[in-house]
Amino acid sequence: MPQLLATRVDNNSPIHIQLNDDIHLDSGDVTIAVSHSAINYKDALALCNRAPIFRTFPIVPGIDLAGTISASTSPHWRVGQDVVIAGRGLGERRSGGYSTVSRQPADILTARPATLSAFDAMAIGTAGMTAALCVQAIQARVAPTHTLPVLVTGASGGVGMHAISMLKQLGYTVVAATGRLALTDQLTQLGADQVIDRTTIAGDRPLERELWSAVIDTVGGDIASAAIRSTAYAGVVAMCGNAGGTHLNINVFPLILRGIQIAGIDSVSAPQAVVDAAWEFAATHYDATRLQHMLTTVPLTNTIAAAHELLASQRQGRCVVSLT
Ligand code: NDP
Repeated sequence: MPQLLATRVDNNSPIHIQLNDDIHLDSGDVTIAVSHSAINYKDALALCNRAPIFRTFPIVPGIDLAGTISASTSPHWRVGQDVVIAGRGLGERRSGGYSTVSRQPADILTARPATLSAFDAMAIGTAGMTAALCVQAIQARVAPTHTLPVLVTGASGGVGMHAISMLKQLGYTVVAATGRLALTDQLTQLGADQVIDRTTIAGDRPLERELWSAVIDTVGGDIASAAIRSTAYAGVVAMCGNAGGTHLNINVFPLILRGIQIAGIDSVSAPQAVVDAAWEFAATHYDATRLQHMLTTVPLTNTIAAAHELLASQRQGRCVVSLT
């Protein structure tokens, strides 16, 4: 089956997502033979109709893709080049990666880093890019030699697993917070020095005891709020997600008495130069051996079922979609 397509008759009608034998292509100057995509949290929300992710119809879902250029009218890209896209509006404002063929504008492509296969690139995808941006924000301000560890929330998810692996490679001490302590061995194998139950990240005083030199937070809500209150002087909290909630319950004291910095992370619309640099960073710190046990692959036909499993926390790590 060549692609998944989401359609809707009008704004009041239900969204239908089904396998489509005819190829729907958007406009664009580069045509890509897509070999791999992935299922991100946002893809799962879209595929399961849990949030209004699609901004246009008809649309091919899938916010990531990796493939090879099959046609190009752009002077910057030639047939045969291997490319990747993570975010950039795919699967939201324009058609994305769940298709064997995709047409995209030249200015959102990144040349696939030479050390990565297409599978590796999608094992990274938006989740790995986001982890890279979070880690870079921490690196800019907190040294790996800090006496306190870095906390990673949503540890067994796509962003969390890449964050743990990258931080460990860079020499940071890492504490992984998870709702699934049964995955302790897997998280330790990724590079976590300690694995804790996410419910232990608690406390509602304006400032709690300093526990973390920095935080990568993928869940938001009460867990993020408590983590901020326990971040050490001059620490960084890189915030990228809302898997556990959208609110924050803090006051100004962590900012004005501890000088901590909250770094908001957006991978989708970041400038292309930042994205290209993050791909290089992610490729440099991609450790296939360390990550292997957190990666699964599904064919296009199983994508919607896998998305439901992801939202029910029945999957861990990254799920790559194979289109070949
Ligand atoms: P995953 O679904 O792969 O992982 C999310 C993890 O969050 C789960 O594995 C689980 O980890 C934890 N979690 C799930 N539900 C809850 C809950 N109710 N309370 C607390 N923790 C929970 O998602 P991704 O890693 O792909 O994405 C994580 C977040 O980052 C999402 O909110 C996503 O939208 C966001 N994101 C943002 C980007 C940006 O550019 N800002 C880009 C990419 C993602 P565990 O079981 O270990 O606790």
